[in-house]
Amino acid sequence: MSSVTVDLMASRRTVLGRAAIAAIGAMVLPAAGAASASAAKSAQKSVEYQGHPKAGHSCNTCKNFQPPQSCKVVEGPIEPSGWCDKYTHS
Ligand code: SF4
Repeated sequence: MSSVTVDLMASRRTVLGRAAIAAIGAMVLPAAGAASASAAKSAQKSVEYQGHPKAGHSCNTCKNFQPPQSCKVVEGPIEPSGWCDKYTHS
């Protein structure tokens, strides 16, 4: 077997190996992203969300609040005047 043939075989193995790694990555990464996206926000009940302030604290002064009615860490519509136990002053 000539050295050119050996080089071509090694090159083909490298290309096929990289293609296999890329294919596996394409299958695994979207699944991981979907899992983290669904786990990213808490249910309102689990964080004692309420539609009114507590002890002078409310969503509109929380760093997690996203106007007009969303939150980075809690699911569903969020009232600016609401509150939950993940409150973090902005
Ligand atoms: S108090 Fe809770 S629900 Fe309101 S913005 Fe902050 S983390 Fe979100």
